[in-house]
Amino acid sequence: MEHETKVHYDEDADLSIIKDKTIAIIGYGNQGRAHALNMRDSGLNIIIGNIKDEYWERAEKDGFKVYTIDKAAEMADILFILLPDEIQPEVYENHIQRELQKNKVLCFAAGFSIHFGFISPPKFVDVVMEAPRMIGHGVRDTYVRGTGYPTLIGIYQDASGKAKDIVLAIAKASGGTKGGAFMSSFEEEAVLDIFSEQGCFAGMYELFAAHFETAVESGYNPLIVVLELWKSGEFVEEVKAWVEEGFFKQMSGHSPTSQYGSMTRGPLYVTEEIRKTFRKVLNDIQTGVFAREWMMEQKMGKPVFNQLKRRALTHPINKAEEDLDRLIRKK
Ligand code: NDP
Repeated sequence: MEHETKVHYDEDADLSIIKDKTIAIIGYGNQGRAHALNMRDSGLNIIIGNIKDEYWERAEKDGFKVYTIDKAAEMADILFILLPDEIQPEVYENHIQRELQKNKVLCFAAGFSIHFGFISPPKFVDVVMEAPRMIGHGVRDTYVRGTGYPTLIGIYQDASGKAKDIVLAIAKASGGTKGGAFMSSFEEEAVLDIFSEQGCFAGMYELFAAHFETAVESGYNPLIVVLELWKSGEFVEEVKAWVEEGFFKQMSGHSPTSQYGSMTRGPLYVTEEIRKTFRKVLNDIQTGVFAREWMMEQKMGKPVFNQLKRRALTHPINKAEEDLDRLIRKK
């Protein structure tokens, strides 16, 4: 399948379309704080909507005017929803929906709530997405450094006919068009974001744990196994080299023994069964099976989540890491 990749940079975006608007950052957390600071530094009129807690105080300390979510939603022309995805539907229904009027804009940093149908905005508002491929701290740090970050932008509803210019302006003010704003969609972002979390990243945690268990069952020192795997920091350097040199290209930096072993043994782990699992996991994401399961899990007070978290935090890996921490000299 051929794909056209369209990327927008600073010169493709114009802040003037939103410079006289009131922009409410709803949720002053990881992404909320970073976006609020960046957009204010870009000269925009930012207010914060948050529940009354330490995030509210932090926003005030940062010099913002902070309001309840209802009030901020009423005052704003553009509402940037930066709440955790699983919280968004409830907050939208009880605090935002009734404040929406023609010409208002709803902006999200992820496709989840809209694509999986947990939020259905009225037809008369623009619904756009600016989804950084970067954690909150990185969104702020790269803005301050002047390099920006790569981001995915999308348009779900274009009631005003200006949704693309608006989302490009939001991306520019946040630092996204410096790193490159990739034209995407709510569906592409929602599916691929979750698929990376549940595909190779999820499998990797289990593979590391199985590797640890195999070596320890064979009589090896758990501390040395953990040191070999990630505690030395060598793995971090390897992942950095994926980014800087290339996923396969960086292999030349490893010994020929390592390269040969990895290229001959690696494929043994990816059996047809595993490819089937990848397809099943992807299918459950695409059809909304996972999204509905997760929302139900929240409603029931996260019993499975809490049980699995307990299992992870009592795995023998934790003890090996703690013992190792006492022995490694920190610079
Ligand atoms: P956070 O977990 O940092 O939370 C954001 C805010 O939501 C906080 O101010 C938090 O306040 C508030 N909040 C939590 N629960 C409630 C509630 N019940 N009612 C009202 N407010 C609440 O979120 P993130 O910044 O991580 O995520 C925001 C969005 O950005 C999501 O759509 C996410 O998918 C997206 N995104 C996140 C990335 C990341 O790296 N984190 C990367 C790219 C996109 P408090 O905790 O005090 O209740």
